Amino acid sequence: MDKAESDVKIRHIGMSAPDIGPQEIAKVVEVLQSGVLSIGPMVEHFERRLAGYVGAQHGVAVSSGTAALHLCMVAAGVGPGDEVITTPFSFVASANCILYEGGTPVFVDVDPRTGNIDPAGLEARITPRTRAILPVHVFGQPADMDAITAIAHRHGLVVIEDACEAIGAEYNGRRVGALGDAGAFAFYPNKQMTTGEGGMLVTSRPEWAALFACLRNQGRGAMNGWLEHERLGYNYRMTELSAALGVVQIDRIEELLAKRARVASAYTQRLANVSGIDVPSVAPTTTRMSWFVYVVRLDRALDRDRIIADLSAAGVPARPYFPAIHLQQHYRERFGYAEGSFPIAEDMSRRSIALPFHGGLSDSDVDYVCERLAARLRP
Ligand SMILES: *Cc1c(COP(=O)(O)O)cnc(C)c1O
Repeated sequence: MDKAESDVKIRHIGMSAPDIGPQEIAKVVEVLQSGVLSIGPMVEHFERRLAGYVGAQHGVAVSSGTAALHLCMVAAGVGPGDEVITTPFSFVASANCILYEGGTPVFVDVDPRTGNIDPAGLEARITPRTRAILPVHVFGQPADMDAITAIAHRHGLVVIEDACEAIGAEYNGRRVGALGDAGAFAFYPNKQMTTGEGGMLVTSRPEWAALFACLRNQGRGAMNGWLEHERLGYNYRMTELSAALGVVQIDRIEELLAKRARVASAYTQRLANVSGIDVPSVAPTTTRMSWFVYVVRLDRALDRDRIIADLSAAGVPARPYFPAIHLQQHYRERFGYAEGSFPIAEDMSRRSIALPFHGGLSDSDVDYVCERLAARLRP
């Protein structure tokens, strides 16, 4: 390495990072000292706080976002041969949950501006076997819920929101998660708020709240003893330690979201005029974006994977985001999907790069990432 080269300092920027402070640490220690590590007051406290925040009547904490989605499929009555309409442009769990109950995901292609399921193509895919519609608020931007719920009502279908990437996002002034029959949130460490691992179901249907509580706890009903199981259940409980993290994080949610929004706007400011990429677009119905990731789309002529490799060599982690679900090996083998099945989702997934993103990125981190990216794109 010559002198000039070694002068260009390579930084190592984290792809994502949880925002954990002294309050979270104190709360977890409090739980440890209490001796109650599961099925205790912290989970109930977290459930009330989170349900209240999103505007739902009930919250039921579970061990992951995937577990939350699975229980929604049970509540929707999905069984072998049943169909659930959903999006191919998402994290794989939003379609896997349908398979867990023997159902078939029926994919509908997405809106090229937002990456969310396009209601225009939706109604034509409803059959007598359709049980539910499962929109995903991808990247923290609400799906077009008025159009989706109108179709669902016309056909007597339930709507399950995968809000795992979108806590606090608002659709026409209303928070996501409480817009359908049930909503699922996730708290893995890369999400806007974290409990380590964890998830939350929200619903305003009391019978579903009771069912979710029973299903997550080995099928024990509210009136049952410890070894009485009224239905097939699971151990999807959240620990008190996780709930302690959750209680503090939901209290800090506005701060956490504001930090992320600041970083997103720093990116947009620096990248809006860089040629070769499009910055994320925000729909008019999105009255509040809950920034989960910052994903730019490259021009079709650019070699996305080479650019990711070059950024990585410069200390900037970047990810192809998302690979379309129907092109994952399991889905290709099981359903025979190939390229061309859902062209808009495939185009988005070929061109998208998630840049390092979390609330702790400084302006100079963002400068560094944007300079590296712009330099790589310069002709
Ligand atoms: C994170 C995520 C999930 C699953 O959450 P886990 O807690 O990791 O199980 C589901 N759907 C989407 C869209 C997600 O981003």
